[in-house]
Amino acid sequence: MLTHNDGNVRDAERLRYSQYPRYPRNPHYSHIPIFPVIPIIHKNGHTLMPPQEFLKILTATLGARAVVTDPAEIEPWMTDWRGRVHGAAPAMLAPASTEEVAEIVRLAAEHGVPLVPQGGNTGMAAGATPPADGSAILLSMRRMNRIRSLSAENRLAVAEAGVVLATLHDGAHEAGMRFPLTLGARGSCTIGGLTSTNAGGTQVLKFGTMRSLVAGVEAVLPDGSVHNGLSGLKKDNRGYSLDQLLIGAEGTLGVVTAVALRLVPAIAARAVAWAGLESPARALDLLRFLEARTDSIEGFELVPQDSLELVLKHIPNTRAPLSGDHKWHVLVEATAAGPETDVAAELERLLGAALQQGIIGDAVIASSEAQAEAFWKLRDSISEAERAEGQTLAHDISVAVADMPQFISDAAVKVEQAFPGVVASGFGHLGDGNIHFHVRAAGHAAPDWYESEGKAITRFVDDLVTAAGGSISAEHGIGQLKRDELARLAPPARIHALRAIKHALDPLGIMNPGKLVP
Ligand SMILES: Cc1cc2nc3c(=O)[nH]c(=O)nc-3n(C[C@H](O)[C@H](O)[C@H](O)COP(=O)(O)OP(=O)(O)OC[C@H]3O[C@@H](n4cnc5c(N)ncnc54)[C@H](O)[C@@H]3O)c2cc1C
Repeated sequence: MLTHNDGNVRDAERLRYSQYPRYPRNPHYSHIPIFPVIPIIHKNGHTLMPPQEFLKILTATLGARAVVTDPAEIEPWMTDWRGRVHGAAPAMLAPASTEEVAEIVRLAAEHGVPLVPQGGNTGMAAGATPPADGSAILLSMRRMNRIRSLSAENRLAVAEAGVVLATLHDGAHEAGMRFPLTLGARGSCTIGGLTSTNAGGTQVLKFGTMRSLVAGVEAVLPDGSVHNGLSGLKKDNRGYSLDQLLIGAEGTLGVVTAVALRLVPAIAARAVAWAGLESPARALDLLRFLEARTDSIEGFELVPQDSLELVLKHIPNTRAPLSGDHKWHVLVEATAAGPETDVAAELERLLGAALQQGIIGDAVIASSEAQAEAFWKLRDSISEAERAEGQTLAHDISVAVADMPQFISDAAVKVEQAFPGVVASGFGHLGDGNIHFHVRAAGHAAPDWYESEGKAITRFVDDLVTAAGGSISAEHGIGQLKRDELARLAPPARIHALRAIKHALDPLGIMNPGKLVP
């Protein structure tokens, strides 16, 4: 029998926002010192000489508000979200319009000054972190935060690059619509960052990644010219798609200033369930079982027992949805756009049938919105719980969906055998063939574990993924953390094409140097 669980619930939405406070609580535009502040003594001791002429001209053209040189204002944005990579920059530019971005890029090209675009700084590959030698200037897009238009009739929104994902969600909701991409960092990550990393998230199963949801891009190209692809035309075959090229380019081909985004009707009803089962193979059986009987499934997340236990240990106000022992769990989300479908009843019936057929061991349907969010909180808190537990290496990988269950089991065993003491496991977007394969250090690991054993483990995992015909970056991008591995493992044709495209559009190499392109 399926049970209903009234659980210990907290406002997961609010929690997600407060979890990543840097954006909302750091209105770094409020106090802008008068330029110039030269030289800047960086905290690690060396002296940075800003490209004075460049900054002087920019300040005269754009005003001091757009040129931040106070190290205290800049510092919070110099470290990547994982806290692994630290950069330095003599200034942070904060333009408020496409014209200002164009002016910045034009002058940067003229003076040969490298720029590092940054949105919410929640990226997982340190793509928005400037080089440590202070040779580049940070280009913060967070002041460009207007939703320019939102049309339920056209099913389109045009949002500037600095619009935070949660703000777009709210705007679409007010118009009876939905932007159907969401992820744990939605209170901080921006439309420009999501586009530039071709982000995925938890609804990819039904709606695809940003690549499927972007109808057009406005961007400033490395020579300062503006590409305007915001018409939202469904059909436009004028040759190469510059919009698609900019999606997933991680700031290496230009600065995204605004994006036309596809909307879908708001959800009329949703049901969220938690099921316990024996193995990833059974989880995939469940997904196929459900998909054969309904088209309402849009979220399907795999969670190992070990990850759930860490969440329960480290994250306050969480509790296990099911009693009993289950080695694996899945979170299932079903939605309906209209009131005529009772998704909760349908999901309950289907899970009941799956239970009878032995596909799952137990399941529970959330009995309220708050409880549904509490289930999602368990899933969204895994990375945070792992960090609280100790050092963890994250691998965002994909293989063919049908191969994923075997891959998870085999890879975990092989990694644990090769590196005694570590704990390896995979969680996440099973239905997309994408899991986050994390390897936790043994309790006694040295502080430099990431640099010592960690590198060897990552190479080992990446070799397994490559041998399985998969990708070493499913949704997080390459940034600077995976560039060496891309160079080591990608076929020559891919590397050659990446370099050729980069050189054709950015011959001076001023756009986010040292990222993505090996
Ligand atoms: C808790 C948590 C959960 C997450 N879950 C997921 C998930 O499920 N799926 C997923 O795909 N990602 C996930 N991420 C990663 C992250 O949220 C995404 O990569 C997001 O797209 C980054 O957006 P951002 O605005 O923070 O970009 P940033 O981190 O600021 O930048 C990311 C990259 O984009 C470039 N960039 C940023 N803005 C622009 C611009 N306007 N023009 C050109 N280049 C630009 C940067 O140079 C950098 O290379 C998660 C992150 C966290 C912290």
